[in-house]
Amino acid sequence: MKISVRAKAIEPSLSRKLFNMAKNYNDVIDLTLGDPDIPPAQIIKNAACESIQKDKIRYSANAGLISLRKSIADNFNNEYGIATDKDKNIVITVGGMEALFLSLACMIDEGDEVIIIAPYYVNYKQMVSMCSGVPVIVNTQEENNFIPREDQILSALSDKTVAIIVNSPSNPTGVVFDKDTLDMIANVAKANDLAVISDEVYRTLVFDGESHRSIASIEGMKDRTVVIDSSSKRFAMTGYRVGFAVGPEEIIANMVRMQENVAACAPVSSQYATIAAFEHCVSDTNIREEFEARRNYIYESINSINGLSAMKPQATFYLFVNVEKTNLDGLTFAYKLLEQEQVAVVPGITYGEAYKNYIRIAFTVKIDVLKIAVERITHFINNLMK
Ligand code: PLP
Repeated sequence: MKISVRAKAIEPSLSRKLFNMAKNYNDVIDLTLGDPDIPPAQIIKNAACESIQKDKIRYSANAGLISLRKSIADNFNNEYGIATDKDKNIVITVGGMEALFLSLACMIDEGDEVIIIAPYYVNYKQMVSMCSGVPVIVNTQEENNFIPREDQILSALSDKTVAIIVNSPSNPTGVVFDKDTLDMIANVAKANDLAVISDEVYRTLVFDGESHRSIASIEGMKDRTVVIDSSSKRFAMTGYRVGFAVGPEEIIANMVRMQENVAACAPVSSQYATIAAFEHCVSDTNIREEFEARRNYIYESINSINGLSAMKPQATFYLFVNVEKTNLDGLTFAYKLLEQEQVAVVPGITYGEAYKNYIRIAFTVKIDVLKIAVERITHFINNLMK
């Protein structure tokens, strides 16, 4: 059978590779995937079961259940102050990932360029390539808090640029872009007639009493921004596979047409579960508080280990750790740590070539388990430094 060049060009991700390798060990602590260990609220599970029991499980509209779109529209109107119409501005998708893919597929023609800020969520680059586009990477540096400067964005522009992907709060750094940075990106987008894909799937996991800011709420941005969101991280519903995009009518209408030809609709019992989540769990702070406590623990402990350093994540459940002083690159560090201590982490090179001296730790396990992971990492480093 012939396999397309497009398919063959997809590189297997190192996060999945380490996740799969971790399965070969018995007593492993797996800190690879961004998959919270917290179960969704009972009311969410009940709603999924009830939709199956009551046979409310046939195809939904391609754009998703009207009642779910209404819940999301209300949420966006309240939290963002962005006027959102359930019939025009929302499409429900199979996870935030499908929302990302459909939005890119609706924007990119062959050879069009999309600016991606690194370190980046690895799927962005692959998805742009899968749509026959060209990813143009802007590398940010730790000394700038992994925040892009205007000159960096400007030098990535060309007459082929159609969009820029913004991911704040960011996977893998946990950084939240400040107001000036969002304003700067918005101004570049407006001046160069670019679309912005704003991936905000971690928006409810912002710590230290800070609140999330969306680039879509900046004046003049609503009509050029597609916000990507999801029930995965916010309600700990990763396997339910419900995400959504909120954006201008024209792009959403095109994404809905594509949806008809790709998945028809997101899983319907999961859509009902997400309605329950929006009705009952929107102001639920338990998940955020749990991750904030873990963030405080892991940030302090990793920084107290000789040779390791990490910026304090302002959000998400990731710690991006600089391992340069151990004289191992992140890839070797991750392989050896798994082999010698049975702790699985992701090499930083997964998130861009420039991050080979980093690893990403997902603090998606309880503090008790994180403590054991820290003991093992300390043991690993002590052996290295001997
Ligand atoms: N965007 C970012 C930055 C992510 O880290 C993830 C998942 O890890 C997603 C989007 C997609 O999440 P999902 O498809 O589960 O909604």
